Amino acid sequence: MLAIDEQQLSAWIETALTQKKLGTLPTYVPSLAEANPNNFAIVLQSIENPIISLGNVEKKLPLMSAIKPFLLLYLLCEFGSDFVFQKVGIEPSEKPFNSLEQLDIDSGWARNPMINSGAIALSSLLPGNTSQERCENFCSWLNEYGKCQLFLDTNILASVRSFPNQNNQAIAQKLVEAGYISDSKIALDTYNQICCLSGTIFDLANLGMLLVKYPNSEWKKHCCTVKGLMTTCGLYEASSSYAEKIGIPIKSSVSGIVLGVVPSTGIIACYSPPLDKQGNSVAGLFLLELIIRKGRRQEGILTSDF
Ligand code: GLN
Repeated sequence: MLAIDEQQLSAWIETALTQKKLGTLPTYVPSLAEANPNNFAIVLQSIENPIISLGNVEKKLPLMSAIKPFLLLYLLCEFGSDFVFQKVGIEPSEKPFNSLEQLDIDSGWARNPMINSGAIALSSLLPGNTSQERCENFCSWLNEYGKCQLFLDTNILASVRSFPNQNNQAIAQKLVEAGYISDSKIALDTYNQICCLSGTIFDLANLGMLLVKYPNSEWKKHCCTVKGLMTTCGLYEASSSYAEKIGIPIKSSVSGIVLGVVPSTGIIACYSPPLDKQGNSVAGLFLLELIIRKGRRQEGILTSDF
């Protein structure tokens, strides 16, 4: 049994949602700008126990940057770490997730896989002839191993494409100039497509469980790498402060997703669209902090039971 009950969780959600007025919706992707700021969903899932879920659990959410840890996991599992870390670093960045300045400072070397430059560099490694084929191969792998039903949301993709992101284009171009990718258009289009992979909060939770339940020791090693980088880089410039405050691997996305992994135990997947200055869900992070901190005080929630 989960030691946290729905009543307790509902009370924490109510507190967390008072914070969402401090956030704003992103403006650079029209469909994200039109999101309902009051939408909210959460799933808590542990290895052996039933799920607790509350909110708009059937809503389809674009994963956006929440795909980044799974892009890294896929490439590590398929090609190994030596190959992957020739293309991307493991250093945190104090600059925003889409910083071209950081990439310039580093002469075109993408600091880590959790920021746009790193994920664009890694998107170029996905197997397939076209960006569509690359995204489809990757999506099939995620659905097979994650037991989820992700799909490419073509409406969101159209919305992303309707507002070409010049910053990401400049990042991709810089990666080409530095020799880390060969074709900026394919890499960027692949990146845009995988960011538009979508599913419900349950799909996200199943995906998150890939980082908790390992089929073999090789997989476990790669998951530890992914979780380490989520802890140090998953919330961009805010990563170190949340590593100190919450202390678990977390990945956020501009669509309002926050995915926290409670190592060896389970995951917390949360969705609330209003974002703080760094692009992290305000209510999502507030809630995660409440659950983890209070959970630590109330024996059992985050130990053997969750
Ligand atoms: N596709 C988005 C972008 O490139 C993803 C960023 C995010 O979720 N932080 O800006």
